[in-house]
This record gives sequence, structure tokens and C-alpha cells, in this order.
Amino acid sequence: SYVGIHSTGFRDFLLKPELLRAISDLGFEHPSEVQQECIPQSILGQDVLCQAKSGMGKTAVFVLAVLQQLEPVDGEVSTIILCHTRELAFQIKNEFNRFTKYMPDVRTSVFYGGTPVKADQEILADKTKCPHIVVGTPGRMNGLTRDKSLDGSKVKMFVLDECDKMLEQLDMRRDVQEIFRSTPAHKQVMMFSATLGKEVRVTCKKFMQNPLEIYVDDETKLTLHGLQQYFVKLSEGQKNRKLNDLLDSLEFNQVCIFVKSVARATELDRLLRECNFPSIAIHSALDQAERINRYKMFKNFEKRILVATDIFGRGIDVERVNVVINYDAPTDADSYLHRVGRAGRFGTKGLGITFVTNDEDEEVLKKIQERFVVAIPDLPEHIEASTY
Ligand code: ADP
Ligand code: MG
Repeated sequence: SYVGIHSTGFRDFLLKPELLRAISDLGFEHPSEVQQECIPQSILGQDVLCQAKSGMGKTAVFVLAVLQQLEPVDGEVSTIILCHTRELAFQIKNEFNRFTKYMPDVRTSVFYGGTPVKADQEILADKTKCPHIVVGTPGRMNGLTRDKSLDGSKVKMFVLDECDKMLEQLDMRRDVQEIFRSTPAHKQVMMFSATLGKEVRVTCKKFMQNPLEIYVDDETKLTLHGLQQYFVKLSEGQKNRKLNDLLDSLEFNQVCIFVKSVARATELDRLLRECNFPSIAIHSALDQAERINRYKMFKNFEKRILVATDIFGRGIDVERVNVVINYDAPTDADSYLHRVGRAGRFGTKGLGITFVTNDEDEEVLKKIQERFVVAIPDLPEHIEASTY
């Protein structure tokens, strides 16, 4: 521009005009750091193994890489995207919808468990409906691969979101491997996560050839700077009272409350609704249609409080969430990082509060502070609402 301050824009990536239009409609002004680092090479077909902190727009990296390169052929699945939960699969499918606004010929479908498999099979068998891009969870996608409904032989791009989660969990890893083996040896492979330990990197790279590797080796850089983090030491019996007080006193737009089990999610949600809080619960014991239904209600701001298990802890992007409460402390530092990352998306402000009841919880809290070199102090009496 005139003032000579050159900041990279999406235009500099030489994307298709229909993509640039969609990006502009979404209101994205500048690519984030991870987008600047990954998009130029990924749109040229290079493999990518990418770690970048929560909320920085990793999804757009692979969505743009896929859509820039995609040449849709009817009846052929050319892209497979796998992720660890159904809600995240649904969300990613929606991202494809948003970015393909001006690409009417591109079809994307989402497949996950808990829904009639027959519907998925029918879509895949119908040449006029068969998606060019498939997003799904490993179990269902492998089921469709095994029964030959999903033909991987034309796949050119293969993406794992939350890759560490999928490759560290053995059942998912087996499914991922089987799906992977159904695809041609020559293809582009891209993997993403906010957490990517040294060991899992080795596993990831076994799926790749000469990938562009982007890591955050200085873990302090994973800290979300807009996010204020505190803990509250209390007994189990004091949690409900404290939560009630917090929900009354905090100025939240939307809040995610994490608990450690399905039973506790159901119970806490019921309790909150009895106290007239606009609460909703998401956990694995709900039937699938209801799970997605509730996800949509929360995403659409029809409910302001979500009580969830860790299935909601990673990847989910709800813009208005500015407060995360760990009603039950997470069991490890990675899980903490993902959970509190539900607030403060794309560098916005937020607040993370963790309830600590026992030595184990304190140990986890200590590890988090050491690893990410972040101070998590005792929750003060008052927090100025404008700061989160
Ligand atoms: P990550 O996967 O890295 O945690 P997401 O891909 O979920 O992050 O993106 C977080 C949020 O930031 C989303 O709401 C997304 O629409 C938004 N976003 C992504 N890239 C940009 C951009 N360049 N400008 C503005 N908002 C963006
Ligand atoms: Mg993500």
C-alpha cells in the first residue's frame, strides 16, 4: 500500500478467484502466521506436518490446500479428511461449505458413526451425489472402506486433523492405517495439531514423504496470550456452589464447562438447568443426531453454557466462547491446553478457570505451569470483565 507497510494478504498466495471471494466474504483480512508458513507449499502439493497453537486457523490451511488443487471428477473421492470426533468432522465439513460458496461443482460429505451406514453407502454409490471430499471419523470411514463403499483408489489428498490424538489412540490408529492403505502411495498427506510431541512426530512422518515440518518446540509459545488462567482450590462438595457463583458473577458470552465423565456431564447439566441457567450437555452417551443438534444449538448461540466431556475438548471452534471452566481438572497438560483453547480463538481474549481438589490435580497444574512457563494463580476476588 501507499504507506509501504507490506503485510501478506491471501492474494499473495495466488489462490483461485472463487476462493479469494469466499475468504473475503468470511471477513478474513490477513493470513495468520501458520497460514503464511503452510499455505504456499501446501497448495503446491507438498506434505505438511504442522503444529500451531489453538485457534490460529489450521483448518483453513488444509481446506484451502485441498480446494486450490482439487479437480472434481464425478464418482471419484479425491480427498479424505479424518478427525477424532463427530462434532469436529461436522464442523470441518461446514468449513468446506463456507469456502466452496463459489465452487458449486464441489461436493463434500461427512461420515461418522451413530448414524445409519446405509445412507452413507447410498451417497457413495450414486455418481451424482458421490462427494469429491469426504470428512469423517476413523471408525465409520474404515467401515465404509472395508465394505468397499468408499473407494480410496483415486485419493490425491489425505488429511489428519488432531493427528496426535488419532495416532496415539490405538483403535483409531488402526483404522487410520487401514484407510490410508486403501489410497494410492502417491498422494499429498497433511497433518495438524496444537500438540505434537517428539514421539508422535516420528509416527506421523511414517505416512509422509519429505514433509514441510512446522513445530512449536518452545512450548511457552503455545500459551494463548489473550487468555487469563486461574485455579480455585476447593473440595468436591464446594464445586457446585462455586460454579454457581462464577456463572452469576462472570460476564461470559458463552462458557464451556469440562467434566471427567458422562454421568457427571448429565448430572451437572441437569443441576444448572434446575437453577435456570441456559445449559446444554454434550457427551458420548447421547444419540448421534442429538449430539449434532446440541452442537449446533451451542454454536448458534441458542445455549450459552455447555457442559462437556473431553470429546469437546479439541478442535471445536465456537467463536463466542470466552470462558472455559475445568469443573474437573484435566488429567494431563495436553488436554488442558486443548480445553482452555476453546476460549480465546484466533487471538481473542478469554478466561480459563480450573477447579483443583486433590494432589493429583495439583500435580497436573504444576506440570502445565512448568511446561508452558505460564503462571496460573489463585482466582482473584474480582476480574475486570473487559479483560476477558
Ligand atoms: P485451529 O484449528 O488452529 O485451532 P481454527 O481453524 O479452528 O483454529 O480457526 C479458529 C478461528 O479462526 C475460526 O473461527 C476461523 O474461522 C478463524 N480464522 C482462521 N483464519 C483466519 C484469518 N486469517 N482471519 C480471521 N479469522 C480466521
Ligand atoms: Mg483445529
